[in-house]
Amino acid sequence: MRLILMGPPGAGKGTQAKFVADHFGIPAISTGDIFRANVSQGTPLGVEAQRYMDAGDYVPDEVTNQMVRNRIDEPDAQPGFLLDGYPRTLAQVQELDGMIAFTGHSLDAVVVLTVDEDEIVDRLLQRALVEGRADDTEDVIRKRQAIYSEQTEPLIEVYRGRGILIEVNGMGEVDDVTERIFEALDVVPQS
Ligand code: ADP
Repeated sequence: MRLILMGPPGAGKGTQAKFVADHFGIPAISTGDIFRANVSQGTPLGVEAQRYMDAGDYVPDEVTNQMVRNRIDEPDAQPGFLLDGYPRTLAQVQELDGMIAFTGHSLDAVVVLTVDEDEIVDRLLQRALVEGRADDTEDVIRKRQAIYSEQTEPLIEVYRGRGILIEVNGMGEVDDVTERIFEALDVVPQS
């Protein structure tokens, strides 16, 4: 399976990504997690990414694309993968198309978690208290949402046009959302 999980910041992508990836026996690849790991290890990539992340801006496409390309070239991603947090721009969509075409496979489905934006600001502020992420202040959260609406939401129509979009209600209990995603994906034919 080659899957994308999309949704606004705070929609619960990271939580659901792990469950879905385990279900299909594929790695969950989270660009946010990879960036954060690089930041905490102080790698050159981390140093480059940090200033964008702290401001709530997207890391430049060339940097992100190269990082994803390297990750999906790894052996564990050959049977498939679930992308969490990528692609986020139209340029990333094109780049990903090229990466997947090169392997002779295709993208099987794009799952979008639909949520109530005001409710998720509360969720993110709560996460800020628990996890202490540097980019979880209210101003930065609102900015991340605005950038999502402007740059990432248009991707939904691109994938709808290809007939591979699946919208799932992301509100409610974590387990219920997981169940909804499984139900929707279990009928998707794998390429
Ligand atoms: P969120 O909770 O906002 O969805 P993520 O953990 O997915 O956060 O990402 C955190 C930050 O990492 C983003 O705000 C952005 O700066 C950077 N980032 C992650 N994925 C991408 C991407 N595909 N393109 C550009 N920047 C990205």
